[in-house]
Order: sequence, then structure tokens, then C-alpha cells
Amino acid sequence: MQTVKDPQTLTISEPDFGRNKKRIGILGGTFNPPHLGHLIIAEQVADQLGLERVLFMPDSKPPHVDHKESISPFEREQMVELSIAGNDLFQMEKCELERGGISYTYDSIKLLQKCHPEYELYFIIGGDMVAYLPKWHKIEQLIKMVHFVGVIREGYPQKSQYPIMWVDIPLINISSTLIRQKLSQHCSIKYLVPDAVEKYIYERGLYDV
Ligand code: ATP
Repeated sequence: MQTVKDPQTLTISEPDFGRNKKRIGILGGTFNPPHLGHLIIAEQVADQLGLERVLFMPDSKPPHVDHKESISPFEREQMVELSIAGNDLFQMEKCELERGGISYTYDSIKLLQKCHPEYELYFIIGGDMVAYLPKWHKIEQLIKMVHFVGVIREGYPQKSQYPIMWVDIPLINISSTLIRQKLSQHCSIKYLVPDAVEKYIYERGLYDV
């Protein structure tokens, strides 16, 4: 595939997928809150890899993050819905929110495979997440179930012991952390998050604004 920067990584353990399956991307995350970086990477990966759809999958409780729940899963879900509205390529996947408890990607992928055997799955992760892959629940099985698609993030290396398809996307230095920091300092978040998300945050007084 032309967009893969280091094709050698694919020879380590390329998943044995069926042919003619629908290529579906998955962007899992906490989305606390969703920002334009999420939408840009989903759109760019879909375009470069020819994905039919990208599922936005908010977690219930991520296993490896010190999750300070300043807002509810419902509010995160609502903001993801607002973010993806109007883009037919994007779709909400609520399985982790509905399952509750700690969200293990392995469990979610297992479920998606069962419900949608016609899907070939591309799991999108930012460069910051790559270093955590060895700690992921059942990672050895997971790498045989999905293609991991890496999106470069400033300050994080493109190295992994696992096969990662790195896509060539302009660096976007927006994070949910940055948005929360800006809100806490009463700074503008306009053009960093979708307009509807900005409105939702202020209307509901999220993040103590
Ligand atoms: P936080 O700052 O709270 O850690 P985040 O901005 O990383 O949040 P998440 O919801 O945790 O947002 O991200 C979901 C996925 O999207 C993760 O794989 C993350 O690495 C990736 N991601 C988010 N923002 C970017 C970005 N600007 N560039 C590349 N990947 C990103």
C-alpha cells in the first residue's frame, strides 16, 4: 500500500484477512472533549486507505489512562455525535459505552468481528498511544484481528515492536488536554473543536466554564 511509510513492518505479522471485505476504520478514544484533530485524522486516514466508514468509539473507562471524569460518558457521547454529524463517512459506535466498566479494545473488536464478519478493521491510533500497545489486553491476539494505523504525533517516535501502518498526515498539535487547559484558563477554543461542541460545552457549563 502506497501510504505505508515502512512496509517492512508489515511483514512481521500481517493479519490474514479475507478478500473483498469492507474496509472500516475505528477511532477509539476518550473524546474528553472531541476536537478537530480527531476529525482530521479520521478523514485523512479514510481517504488514504480507502475506508468505507470510520467508527468513532468512545470508551467507557480507558484501562491505561488516569481518567479524571470531569464530565459524564453521556456528555462525551453527545459531543462525539455533534462532531460527526453531517459526515456520511463517520458513524458512532457505542459498544464500549454500553458495556460499561473498563474498555478493552480486544473485547470491542471481538464483538465487531462477530456482528460484522464482512468488515476488515483498521484501528487508528495516535503516535502517543503506540508505546502503550505492549500493555494492551490480549495485544498478541488483537494484532491478528486488526490493522493498526499510526498517525504521527509531535514528540512521539514511530517505533513499535508491532506492525503499524503509518499514514502521512500533516502534524496536528491539538489534543483534548490542550482544550481542557484552554478552558481552565478561559482562553478561546474556537476552531480547535467543532462549533457545535464549543456551544455544547458553554451551554452545559462543562469543564467548569
Ligand atoms: P488527551 O489529550 O486527553 O490524552 P487526546 O487528544 O489524545 O486526549 P483521545 O480521545 O484520547 O484524545 O484520542 C483518541 C485517539 O486519537 C488516540 O489514539 C489519540 O492518540 C488520537 N489522537 C488524538 N488527537 C490526535 C492528534 N492531534 N494527532 C494524532 N492523533 C491524535
